[in-house]
Amino acid sequence: MTYSDQPAPWSPGERPEEFTGNRTVCGICSGTCGMTLKLVNGELSATEGDSEHPVSRGHICPKARALPEMFRTPDRLPHPVRRAGSGAWEEISWDEAFAVLSQELDRIGRKYGPEALAVHVGHAGVGKEFLPYAERFCALYGTPNFSTCGSHCYESKSMANMVTFGKMPIGDYARSKCIVLWGKNPGSSAPSLVNEIAEARKRGCALIVIDPRRMPLAEKADLHLQLRPGTDGALALGFLHVIVREQLYDKDFVERWTVGFDALCQAVEAYPPEEVERITRVPAGQVQEAARLFASAPAACISLGVAVELSTNGFQAARGVAALQAITGNLDIAGGAVFLNEAPLSDLQLPPLSGVKQAIGADEYPLFHRISRNAQANLYARAILEEKPYPLKGLVVAGSNPVLTWPNARRVREALSKLEFLAVIDPVMTATARQAHLVLPCASFLGGDELWESSHLSLEPRIGLAPKICNDGGLPTHWEIWREIAVRMGHSDFFPWSTEEEAITFRLQALELTYDDLRDMPEGYNYYRWTAKKYEKEGFNTDSGKVEIYSGLLERHGYDPVPSYAEPAESPLSTPHVASLFPLVLTTGARRLEYLHSRFRNVDSLRTRVPEPYVEIHPSTADGLGLKDGDMVLVETLRGGIEIRARYTPSILPGVVSMSHGWDEANANILTDDACLDPISGFPGGRCLLARIARE
Ligand code: SF4
Repeated sequence: MTYSDQPAPWSPGERPEEFTGNRTVCGICSGTCGMTLKLVNGELSATEGDSEHPVSRGHICPKARALPEMFRTPDRLPHPVRRAGSGAWEEISWDEAFAVLSQELDRIGRKYGPEALAVHVGHAGVGKEFLPYAERFCALYGTPNFSTCGSHCYESKSMANMVTFGKMPIGDYARSKCIVLWGKNPGSSAPSLVNEIAEARKRGCALIVIDPRRMPLAEKADLHLQLRPGTDGALALGFLHVIVREQLYDKDFVERWTVGFDALCQAVEAYPPEEVERITRVPAGQVQEAARLFASAPAACISLGVAVELSTNGFQAARGVAALQAITGNLDIAGGAVFLNEAPLSDLQLPPLSGVKQAIGADEYPLFHRISRNAQANLYARAILEEKPYPLKGLVVAGSNPVLTWPNARRVREALSKLEFLAVIDPVMTATARQAHLVLPCASFLGGDELWESSHLSLEPRIGLAPKICNDGGLPTHWEIWREIAVRMGHSDFFPWSTEEEAITFRLQALELTYDDLRDMPEGYNYYRWTAKKYEKEGFNTDSGKVEIYSGLLERHGYDPVPSYAEPAESPLSTPHVASLFPLVLTTGARRLEYLHSRFRNVDSLRTRVPEPYVEIHPSTADGLGLKDGDMVLVETLRGGIEIRARYTPSILPGVVSMSHGWDEANANILTDDACLDPISGFPGGRCLLARIARE
C-alpha cells in the first residue's frame, strides 16, 4: 500500500551517478518529498524519489515524475504579455511589464486609495517562500487586502485548533493505536500519510474512515462511516455524546486541563446516536462503535481533511473534533495529536501604515482576520461588483487561479471583468490569466531557491533548502518579481536583499544558519525534537492556559462558545423547498493525485491517466434518473449548470454525487455558492450543495 506508482529504484547509497548531486525537495504541494534529478545539458530529464530523504523516504507521486514534461508544456509563456486596445495579447519586454505594473498600482492607489488593490497568492507548483515578501509589499503599499488560498483551505481548521488549544497539532500516526481519516483521502492529497498508515496498521493500529465515498483506504478500514456531506459537526457531537454518556473520557485530563466540559456535556445531550443517524445517515450502531473504538485506544489521532472545512458549519465541526482529541486525553502524547514548533524564521511582517482601512472581510469574519492576518478573498467579488465595504479596483493574482478555484465562478468571472487592472503572475496561461490585462510568466520552483519545512509532517521537523536546479527558460522567480515590484515602487530600503540567497540567509538568522549551510544539508536541518505533554510545564497557549472547550473568545465575538452543529446552508433538511427541485446532495472538490487544484491538466502523461472531468453517481441513483454510465449530463444548482460525464460508482452514498474541481471545461465552481459562507471563517460550503442531474 504505497502511494507512488513505483518506489525509488535504488536503496540509500546506491544512487546512479547521473542523479548524484541533484537532490532537492518537491515544491508542487506541501508533501515535502525528497527528489533526485537527472539533468542532461542542464535540462531536467528525469526525477526519482530520494530514498535518503528523512520525510518521504524515496516516494514521489505522478506529478513529480511528470516534472520534466511540465517544463515543456505549450501554454508556458516565454515573456510577459499585455492586452492591447484591440483585446489581443501583445508581447512586451520585462522592463515594460514592470513599468506597466508599477504605474497601474500607483494609479489605483492615488485615485481610489491603497485599499482598492488586493493581492491574492497561492503556491501550487510555484514555491511558497515568496508569500511573506508579497505580504510585506502590501504593507508598504498600504493595502490591508492580502489574501491566500487560506480563504478556502486549511485556515478554518487551523483557527478552530488555535481557539481551542492555542496551536495546531499534527497526528503522530506512526505510533498511533487508532487513526481517524475524517473527510480526508490521503491517497489523493497527502500520499506520504498512506505509507505511515500502512506501517501503523502492521503494528495493530485501528483505522476509522469518515467519508461519503468508499475510497481505497476505506476498503481496508475497521470502520467506514459514510455520512451525508456537511454533517461532520453532528457526527462529532454524536461521538462526544457516546463518550460522555459512557464515561469513556480521560477524567484527570478533563478536570485539570479543560475549560467548559460541563457546557459540552449539555450541548451533546441533543445528539444521541439515533438523532445523529437521522442527520448524518450513519447508522447509530456505527456511531457508537466508532466512538468507543476511538476513546478506548491507548493513543488515537484524527487527520481532518478540507472536506470538513468546506461546509457552512466547518469551523464548529473542527471545534468538535478538537474537543474529541482533548477529552479522550490524546493531546501531546505519543500516537496522539502532538504540538510542534515551526522553524523560527525571521519575520517579514511590517506594522500597517497609519490610517489603513480594515481588510475586506474583517468586519464579517473578525476572527478569521485576527488569526490569519489576511483579507477574506471570498468577498472580493462583492467588493468589486457592489463596492462593499469599499471599491476594489485592482487585483494581482500570483500562483493562483480564482476563476476555477473560488466559489460561484460566474460571479468571479464577472467581477474580474469589471476590474480596472488585473495582473497575473504564473508559469502558465491560466483561465484567470486569460482575463487579465497583464500576465507575467515566472519560473517554477525548480528555477529558484526555496526553503522547505516539515513541521506539519514529522515529529523531528527539519528545515532545508530546495536549491535552484535550472534556469527554467530564464524566467524570474516569484520572489524576484515581488522584489522588483517593491524596488520600482520606491521600497528598496525594505527589500535590501538583491538575491534569493541573501534573503534566505536573512530568514535563517535565528537558527544561526546560512544559505550555504543548508546547501550542504540535502536532508535538511533538524531544528526541534518533540517531547510529550509540554502543557504540564507550559500550559496551553490560550487565555486560560487550558484547552478551551468553552471559548470566551468565541463568546465575545457572538459565536457559540462550545462546539455546535448547524445544517449546511443548503441541504435536504435546512432548505426542503430547494431540495424539492434539486434533490441530490452534491460534493465538489474531491482531489486527484495527478492534479493539484486547477494545475497540470496540460501535462500529457497526467491527462492520459485522468482524461476528462466526471461526476460520480451511485448506480441506484442513476437508474432512478434514467441515466447510464458514461452519459453526458447537465448538473445544475441554484447558481448554474455544467455539462459533464456521469460515471457509475457503487462506492458513493446513494443520493450523493461528487466531482473534482479545477477543470476549465466543467468548472465545478459554477455550481458553488459565495453567498452563504461559514459564519466564523468565511469558508464556502462547496462540499455540501443541492443539485439535480439530467441527461444532456
Ligand atoms: S506528494 Fe507529489 S506533488 Fe506533493 S510534494 Fe510529494 S512528490 Fe511533490
